[in-house]
Amino acid sequence: MPIATVNPANGETLRTYEAMGEEELERRLQLAEATFRTYRTTPFAERARLLNRAAELLDEDQRDIGRTMTTEMGKPVKQARAEAAKCAKAMRWYAEHAAELLADEHPAEADVKDSGASRVLVRYRPLGPVLAVMPWNFPLWQVIRFAAPALMAGNVGLLKHASNVPQTALYLEDLFHRAGFTEGCFQTLLVGAGAVDEILRDERVRAATLTGSEPAGRAVAATSGAMVKKTVLELGGSDPYVVMPSADIDRAARVAVTARVQNNGQSCIAAKRFIVHSDVYDAFAERFTEGMKALRVGDPLEEDTDVGPLATEQGRADLEELVDDATRSGADVLCGGERPEGDGWYYPPTVLAGVTREMRIHREEAFGPVATVYRAADLDEAILIANDSPFGLSSNVWTRDEAEVDRFVRDLEAGSVYVNGMTASHPAFPFGGVKRSGYGRELSGHGIREFCNITTVWHG
Ligand code: NAP
Repeated sequence: MPIATVNPANGETLRTYEAMGEEELERRLQLAEATFRTYRTTPFAERARLLNRAAELLDEDQRDIGRTMTTEMGKPVKQARAEAAKCAKAMRWYAEHAAELLADEHPAEADVKDSGASRVLVRYRPLGPVLAVMPWNFPLWQVIRFAAPALMAGNVGLLKHASNVPQTALYLEDLFHRAGFTEGCFQTLLVGAGAVDEILRDERVRAATLTGSEPAGRAVAATSGAMVKKTVLELGGSDPYVVMPSADIDRAARVAVTARVQNNGQSCIAAKRFIVHSDVYDAFAERFTEGMKALRVGDPLEEDTDVGPLATEQGRADLEELVDDATRSGADVLCGGERPEGDGWYYPPTVLAGVTREMRIHREEAFGPVATVYRAADLDEAILIANDSPFGLSSNVWTRDEAEVDRFVRDLEAGSVYVNGMTASHPAFPFGGVKRSGYGRELSGHGIREFCNITTVWHG
């Protein structure tokens, strides 16, 4: 894949970039290592000052970077600006809380005595340069979600961003430099996926985080495993959205539309499989389908657009294949399902019913505005269908019955359970999945400690 900005709304190539060569990569790796030696000793207050400054600059840049993101990957521009605002909030959150999240820990006095020590403490020290391999779907957020805690912990970052968002990738490097971080604290490596393996094998790179697809995650984890390097993987999802009879069906159907089509349907934590108790199935399916049909699809630079084009031509072809496979095998199309004529990689909001286990869409991730609706006879069947997926990122349940909530929280195989609401990440809460959605956590105290050397200090 060339490193280029190609506008998904019309297929026009706006800018192409040369990949960085070996010499430039070597210079950047050297710089990362050298910078880490000094940056690791900076006080939290200084790191926080720089990160708060970066947040301020990002707020000032919100309009421009919002348009850049929309032009590179097609998300509605209003959502792009909201993404920038969310990034600034996360930076401020880590600037405020990192010192307390990474404060020394003191084991219980009895255990200290039992070990024969006079004093023991646990200190969180940084690891070194961390490689972040990131996707295009939230081109700012995925990176900030890694960079804010990494920089606050005293690590330095090397970003290999997706090849279709080079302008956003370069903007991020520039943002941190303008905020006052020295050059080696955060660097963008303009390279294709093929260069990742060699970079990962470099001894100066101490750990890696990848947000992206399962094949990419597997490749990075395999090399990191061979090199004995810590990884965090945030991979795909096919989140269930379960609606039980006691739920507010109107609200559940309204939120379901947003949960499915946010970011043009290209979100790992989008609800993708709607599992509805048979008592309320017809009412939910009707309202949900009406809501999907009412969405305004069009130019993502227009303020009132709900759904823009998919980010890549290949992404649309993949989605179309999933839908065609299901309809060929007997799934019902409640709305959408036909690629429109004309420029741009648009695909309409689509609802499929009657999906069976044999259909690909039941097991694979639909990365676009396509929903599947399932009928469940009772709570047990709803949980069975929800867990019948290789993924386990997040989950959503709609019920007013506390006993049902307890069952969902006990039994759903996912990294989070959102009750009467849709999944949305927040800097203070851990984020990540189980099964083939990956491992490790981002955000919160759990996220910042992933790339720390958790050091026991024992005094005799
Ligand atoms: P992708 O193709 O896996 O790309 C993600 C990143 O990995 C890009 O920088 C890509 O570089 C790189 N890459 C691809 N193949 C690689 C390989 N073999 N070795 C090393 N690096 C490789 O994913 P995508 O299509 O951009 O993003 C969509 C996927 O990301 C979906 O599955 C989605 O669910 C998942 N996602 C997960 C989360 C989460 O938090 N769990 C969040 C967002 C997205 P190139 O661009 O140069 O190919």
